[in-house]
Amino acid sequence: MSMDGLPKELERLVAEARGAGDWGRPADYIPELAKVDPAQVGVALCLADGTELGAGEADRPFSIQSISKVFSLAAVLGRLGDDLWRRVGREPSGTAFDSIFLLEHENGRPRNPFINAGALVTTDALLGGREPRQALSEIMHLVRAAAEDDDIHIDKAVAESEKATASRNMALLYYLQSHDNLLNPPEMVMGTYAHQCAIEMTCRQLARAGRMLAMLPGVPAMISPLRARRINALMMTCGQYDGSGNFAFRVGLPGKSGVGGGILLVAPGVASIAVWSPGLDGYGNSQVGTWLAERIAGYTGWSVFAP
Ligand code: GLN
Repeated sequence: MSMDGLPKELERLVAEARGAGDWGRPADYIPELAKVDPAQVGVALCLADGTELGAGEADRPFSIQSISKVFSLAAVLGRLGDDLWRRVGREPSGTAFDSIFLLEHENGRPRNPFINAGALVTTDALLGGREPRQALSEIMHLVRAAAEDDDIHIDKAVAESEKATASRNMALLYYLQSHDNLLNPPEMVMGTYAHQCAIEMTCRQLARAGRMLAMLPGVPAMISPLRARRINALMMTCGQYDGSGNFAFRVGLPGKSGVGGGILLVAPGVASIAVWSPGLDGYGNSQVGTWLAERIAGYTGWSVFAP
């Protein structure tokens, strides 16, 4: 199918989303995120032929939050390889992103690297015996190189805001520690994790960083094709937490959400897509962003479940 009509369709979808009025609510458990105006919507795409498209607030930076878990996972797999899987599983959890429930039943081994418990283990593994700034600069290097853009930074106010209200993640960390599944002090892992979550990116930068997962031709070879395929599988099965099944049903593409309202989507070999709208649904995934992703997949026919 020709994508000639896509730029116009993106404008139309953004206008429709703006008119709909029901934005969902921005995350408020991180006070700094609650300040963001929910009435915003952005989208950006990178296509296999090198075309880049954007509509709405495609150039407004937002807090990528849990989308950073994709980048920390890619970095740690590069460093440790499959050893990571001794400490964290690869199954969907069916529980909320910040749940502690399954950890108790499964001896402190988180179900997957995208729920908070699993992401905290991933960050702990990335730290190894190093200082937080070394692990963070490794993530920043990966993100900037993948996006081919050095103008990507961490919003310190968001990181401090998360650290100041981190009781639940601290509880997860102490629980992991009690099962000998934490190498570093909980405060150190929490600080590193809060900073990686506070990376600010625009839809355009995020779509560019996602090209490595979509394995688009001519993009910086940051990760091997096998690793990209496996990360995509985890995004498909676990990327939206207990909303992952419904997301697969509605959108049909691997995606990773963040409570900042962003979603990174991958159409392997075809496109990398970033959508953003700060209001969330009950699972902590962007409400309008999911709708937009569904409509883009519907218009283009992109799906990992169809030819
Ligand atoms: N930093 C957030 C947290 O740990 C990330 C959660 C998310 O984006 N789902 O609570």
